[in-house]
Amino acid sequence: MVERDFWSWSVGCEACGTRGRVDLSEWDDPLAEPYGFRVDVVSPGFVVKHYGRTGLDTAIACASCGAVVRDVLGRPGETPQP
Ligand SMILES: [Zn+2]
Repeated sequence: MVERDFWSWSVGCEACGTRGRVDLSEWDDPLAEPYGFRVDVVSPGFVVKHYGRTGLDTAIACASCGAVVRDVLGRPGETPQP
């Protein structure tokens, strides 16, 4: 049985000093399709700016000032394809 893989990001807004955490999870199987990626918890003060298929494709922003604190990797431009 495939289990879920959990991890988290520490996020901080340089503009207004808000700090928080984002908890994420996905199926612990690189061949799983879909990956079952999910943003489980976002600390108060932050929002999911872009919800992607994986963590690499997901961006988090500060809810107070709108600053992006974790951007989609590969921006600007195309998200790298495997
Ligand atoms: Zn901020």
